[in-house]
Amino acid sequence: QKITIAIDGYSSTGKSTVAKQLADHLGYVYVDSGAMYRAVTLYAMQKGIISKKHFDVEKLKKSLSEIHLKFHKEAAWNKAHIFLNGKDVEDKIRNLEVSEFVSPIATIHEVRAKLVAQQQQMGLEKGVVMDGRDIGTVVFPRAELKIFMNASAEERAQRRYKELLARGEKIHLDEVLKNIQERDHIDTTRADSPLLQAKDAIVIDNSEMNLQDQFHTVLQLAKD
Ligand code: C5P
Repeated sequence: QKITIAIDGYSSTGKSTVAKQLADHLGYVYVDSGAMYRAVTLYAMQKGIISKKHFDVEKLKKSLSEIHLKFHKEAAWNKAHIFLNGKDVEDKIRNLEVSEFVSPIATIHEVRAKLVAQQQQMGLEKGVVMDGRDIGTVVFPRAELKIFMNASAEERAQRRYKELLARGEKIHLDEVLKNIQERDHIDTTRADSPLLQAKDAIVIDNSEMNLQDQFHTVLQLAKD
């Protein structure tokens, strides 16, 4: 059985759903690395470091030592929530505004170095399933199982759109599609740790797969 499992892929491919299910099933820790980039983004928005008009990269770099992230889970919650400087921000980091700023924030080397170090620490104690963009390539290059998930941009936008609607957000499908395409572009073209498939990753295209099929496919790979 694999101890360190890395699940990477494009935005809204359903990585986190499968990763969480797998971690629960195996009794492993699940780490949503995207939540960490989102929490840093929320901090930058709250401090006026990033907005539609400007992005003060130097200020962000100087502020990094003041950003403390922690995952914490309570029995009643279905997954661990992310805390930013002691506050539960799990819900706040999922909106479209954070999604618009997160990819530029994630291009900054110093941000990545800080988060990668913390992610590597979290993988030390016991079995871990971590999802993100650079888990199999940078965070855990020696992970025993690497999965790369993909689905068409249209399919991903549909799924994300439904999620956002369920949260009560007023949005259009084309805005969501545009955001996904923009994030794909920034994530794959950035200089530091671009999103790419690790050489030893197993690719799963789930455009036509339901959640149960995905889970069984991944579980089988984890047990092999
Ligand atoms: O996974 P999620 O969509 O929540 O991630 C939000 C953004 O954070 C991604 O679009 C990407 O820009 C960034 N990210 C990253 N590296 C990771 C996880 C997320 O650059 N390991």
